[in-house]
Amino acid sequence: MSLSTMPPLTIPGENGYTKNPTESPTLDFDVVVVGGGIVGLTMALAIAPSSLRIALVESSGESIAARRGQAYNISPRSAQIFHQLGIWGDLLPRITPYEQIRLSDGDYGGVVQFKPQDLGLPKDGYLGCIAPHGVLLTQLESALGKTTIRRFCPVTVTNVSYLPQQAVLTLQSKDSSTALTLTSQLVIGADGAHSPLRRSAGIHTFGWRYPQACVVATIQSELYHQRIAYERFWPSGPFAVLPMDGGRCRIVWTAPYPEAESLLRCDPQVFIEQLHQRFGAHLGKVTLEDERVLLPVELMHSDHYVLHRLALIGDAAHRCHPVGGQGLNLGLRDVAVLREVLLSACHKGNDIGDLSTLRHFDHRSRFHNLMMLAVTDGLVKLFSNQWLPFVALRRLGLNLMRAIPMIRHWVLRLMTGCYGQYQSLSLWKSIQS
Ligand SMILES: Cc1cc2nc3c(=O)[nH]c(=O)nc-3n(C[C@H](O)[C@H](O)[C@H](O)COP(=O)(O)OP(=O)(O)OC[C@H]3O[C@@H](n4cnc5c(N)ncnc54)[C@H](O)[C@@H]3O)c2cc1C
Repeated sequence: MSLSTMPPLTIPGENGYTKNPTESPTLDFDVVVVGGGIVGLTMALAIAPSSLRIALVESSGESIAARRGQAYNISPRSAQIFHQLGIWGDLLPRITPYEQIRLSDGDYGGVVQFKPQDLGLPKDGYLGCIAPHGVLLTQLESALGKTTIRRFCPVTVTNVSYLPQQAVLTLQSKDSSTALTLTSQLVIGADGAHSPLRRSAGIHTFGWRYPQACVVATIQSELYHQRIAYERFWPSGPFAVLPMDGGRCRIVWTAPYPEAESLLRCDPQVFIEQLHQRFGAHLGKVTLEDERVLLPVELMHSDHYVLHRLALIGDAAHRCHPVGGQGLNLGLRDVAVLREVLLSACHKGNDIGDLSTLRHFDHRSRFHNLMMLAVTDGLVKLFSNQWLPFVALRRLGLNLMRAIPMIRHWVLRLMTGCYGQYQSLSLWKSIQS
């Protein structure tokens, strides 16, 4: 809902409005989710069945957000969350499942093949799915439209005050012509890596920018990808080919910044030649489908996920290297954990915005998120190092993975988000078709 389509701002006392001291209209909620990206939308939907009064605030226009040309690896654990929201059945025909992952160290021949059987799934099962940003966003927004969640978009949160009994948020339309005040027991910050909420709350972060950037592009290939996802580690950075619908593939190419810049700007034909050099001719002749995009690569972790009346989730709380496609999956895991914490607090009649409630979310998320940040960082560092003992160590690791199914099983459990989550895997088996 845009500010221009909201009820007149001069009618206090009606439709849940209350007067604030300056006579400007105030809307009261229990939860305000700031950020209508994939994580924020999923969060709002996840708590929608409760009796909580929920608002979602997003600063970009819908069309801008849907045009973002990214595609994500959706893990079985994330699929379980979408299944619980009731959108998995509509999503599955519009995204691309993959049946195999091939992991290799540059042009070293020892390729590790991860197959569904390694996870105890049937031979024709899937290890995950590749979902375009626009498809996910559209499904989530359509599900949101069927709930009572109030959506404010495109509107920016310009100020938040955290008071003992409630948080007070000031919203402003893009052209600053209209302002509105919301009050809430809890503010959930899903406002991305540069999170204005995190910054204004004075929460510090730990991390670094890698001396690399990621070039992403979609290609159409002559030969079918056979639903195989490739992750190939080069000293300059990991290189991934992800299968998509219509025989297309998504390229996620990490390289040192100057190389990434030239991959972005070079002639499409030159890009394709370089792609062939990097990946070989597995896919036959390829053509570029859309514009290449350059994305920064960083590791970031917030010192705190929660303060009194504030919880940070998704990229607002942590960001990892894109290797293995874990970032969004971590954000969706935050949603599942925070949902449980909030619903349990509601059930017990506790204050959902109180720090003592929110600390449970921090404690249950922090270790897992830090572990995945460390795993992705370790992988990048291990595979970019050309010191001979490191080369020997990682090739030994790859050979052990090739030879011992149990190692492949545990690596897959970790990377699919099913580590310690036995019910996720059995649900994944049942929702694949
Ligand atoms: C190259 C690359 C490839 C990746 N591939 C994968 C992958 O395969 N799988 C995976 O799981 N992850 C992947 N990731 C990570 C993934 O992109 C992010 O983790 C994910 O997009 C984060 O989602 P989010 O909703 O937390 O944040 P965002 O998508 O950044 O959403 C934040 C939202 O908040 C809004 N907002 C910001 N400020 C305000 C404000 N003041 N008021 C109102 N609204 C506001 C923004 O407009 C935006 O819509 C990749 C990342 C990169 C860089």
